[in-house]
Amino acid sequence: MSYTSTINIPQFQQDLINWFEKEQRILPWRENKDPYRVWVSEIMLQQTKVDTVIPYFQHFMKQFPDLEALAEAEEQQVLKAWEGLGYYSRARNLQTAVKEVVSEYRAQVPETPKELGELKGVGPYTKGAILSIAYNKPEPAVDGNVMRVLSRILRIEEDIAKAKTRKTFETAVYQLISKENPSAFNQGLMELGALVCTPKKPSCLLCPVQQHCLAFQAGVEETLPVKVKKTKQSTKHYVAFIIEDETGRCVLEQRPNNGLLAQMWQFPMVDTTTIDEQHLEAYIQEKFQTKVLQTTEKEPVKHVFSHLIWYLTVKHIKIKGTIRLPARMKLLTKKEVEQYPLPVSHQNIYRQL
Ligand code: SF4
Repeated sequence: MSYTSTINIPQFQQDLINWFEKEQRILPWRENKDPYRVWVSEIMLQQTKVDTVIPYFQHFMKQFPDLEALAEAEEQQVLKAWEGLGYYSRARNLQTAVKEVVSEYRAQVPETPKELGELKGVGPYTKGAILSIAYNKPEPAVDGNVMRVLSRILRIEEDIAKAKTRKTFETAVYQLISKENPSAFNQGLMELGALVCTPKKPSCLLCPVQQHCLAFQAGVEETLPVKVKKTKQSTKHYVAFIIEDETGRCVLEQRPNNGLLAQMWQFPMVDTTTIDEQHLEAYIQEKFQTKVLQTTEKEPVKHVFSHLIWYLTVKHIKIKGTIRLPARMKLLTKKEVEQYPLPVSHQNIYRQL
């Protein structure tokens, strides 16, 4: 027996779509169904809240109004426009994929699952969202939000932290989705998850699909979805240095080309396990061949990534005379620093200057 066999599918579709058409929020990416806009919004919305995304999306669309504009932009410009949104590989992958669409598909976002799914950074969710929302194709777009909603409606008790569980939900969506209006159906599921069927305390009494919901009938909506916690986040401790010369310029360093926050800029940082905290000044003098005048302690900064937590001790170091800059470092005025893409933790350090 499949999970959807007890559902009155046409009635469910109608209840969900009617509600969505009446109650949907006005959001800038819903102004039209341009696949490029849908694409950018879906990438920004991964791991990031709607309210945070709105100003970024509007600014991004002004700066890069179409595929060609984004394809031609400097990568650092794109990262700068993404600054503060986090998960910067999303921006880099988006630009790589957009370049491919411009060169290989005459600047038309492909509308077949195969071509679209082969583009960099376009996973099964984004692919389904673009195909259904922009091209009105009955394809599933299953993310954590949709899994939560459907785990409750269909009372699916499989662990959503496991990658293979997504298939269960995609199969269910293929069975449930409206063939006439897949765009409103998928967006309705997403919107229901955002506004009604929320992670904590879902508003079941106001829910447009309550009569279909097996978890509600059994009173178990708050125990779903099942999500087995992964191992704890690891932690890293660093000292971050604001190294400032007599003219007020500071040293910025570009991160490695690969890995976490690749190619973003930051104040130089050292892992505390590799340095003797008693001799920080000597370390700076030697590494930068300069003279330290004064060291003061600033507010520490904590940053939580999905898998990792950074604890940064911040030292403000004033130097005198010349400085020798190691590779990937620059000496910049405060105004110039603002032109470089900094991760949020280092924007917080910059604000202390
Ligand atoms: Fe979610 Fe409650 Fe609606 Fe079921 S009835 S879909 S649990 S809000």
